[in-house]
Amino acid sequence: MAKPACIVIVGTGGTIAGVGAGSAGAGAGSAAYRAAAIPADRLIESVPGLAQMAALQVEQLFQIDSADFTDDKLLQLAHRVAALCTRDDVGGVVITHGTDTLEESAYLLHLTLATAKPVVLTGAMRPSTALSADGPANLRDAVAVAAHPSSAGQGVLVVMNQEVFSARDVTKARSMVVNAFDSPWGPLGAVVEGTPRWYRRAARLHTHASEFDLAKIAALPLVGVVASHGNMRREIYDAWVAAGARAIVHEGFGGGTVPAYLRSYLEGLRARGVLLVRAARSQAGRVIRNATADDDGNGWVTVDDQNAPRARLLTALALTRTTEPAEIQQMFWHY
Ligand code: ASP
Repeated sequence: MAKPACIVIVGTGGTIAGVGAGSAGAGAGSAAYRAAAIPADRLIESVPGLAQMAALQVEQLFQIDSADFTDDKLLQLAHRVAALCTRDDVGGVVITHGTDTLEESAYLLHLTLATAKPVVLTGAMRPSTALSADGPANLRDAVAVAAHPSSAGQGVLVVMNQEVFSARDVTKARSMVVNAFDSPWGPLGAVVEGTPRWYRRAARLHTHASEFDLAKIAALPLVGVVASHGNMRREIYDAWVAAGARAIVHEGFGGGTVPAYLRSYLEGLRARGVLLVRAARSQAGRVIRNATADDDGNGWVTVDDQNAPRARLLTALALTRTTEPAEIQQMFWHY
């Protein structure tokens, strides 16, 4: 009889692998500690019963604070997980990851992994040595979701604090509490008594239905993000252009507004070969095309409801296929 497929746990670091000075006092909370210290195989030992839930394999790809994820590292992660998913003996993958940039890694995988196998990211808000560390329960729930047949084909998932989110729209919304993650559209489901229970599905294209071919992507085109604030300066855009950015995500006020004093300058970016992508500084809602700017006339792209960090990744992937704003706009409607 064929052996049941295993779940591979890929360790990348973060607070889930963090250590503080002790379980009380300095280092016990979620502020003073060292992230990315405990190897993934020791994390597994900290979860009672995990080895009975599924056959497990563990590998340590990185041991970093997630702030240190560059596009190169992100692609390395994606290529490694893609390779794991092609193996017949692998039923799913769990990635332990720092929470700070977890949403970006999850989204890139969501857009590029040509698989229906469950790929689940999880992390922790408290280091492993903290009083009531949340990492062990999150890891147990992530393995439960990755090992459950109902998780197949749902795209890349993020499991935190008993909730299951789609990588398309999850975000770290709170910096100091265990319910740190949220989505404007809510979670897809919950982990109830060790089993995923689903309430909705991701409606947009992802993973096996995606057009982005990881095998052909050795590097991501450079895309910058500029956040809006009062008294903006054009020099920051110039710096991105000088660095070789092919596109700039302008994280505009409200629904993506461009200040009047920058408008003609930003309109000129296209002639310099740089695509402008309008996103919104507001964390929920959407950018309405041609509402506060002449997007059609300027050849600008709007992000629908994507936040700026994820819009950066979708724009970079889009640029591996086309430079046509109208085609890139379609990708924002469909992913
Ligand atoms: N700085 C940590 C990281 O993102 C925070 C965490 O994991 O919660 O790696």
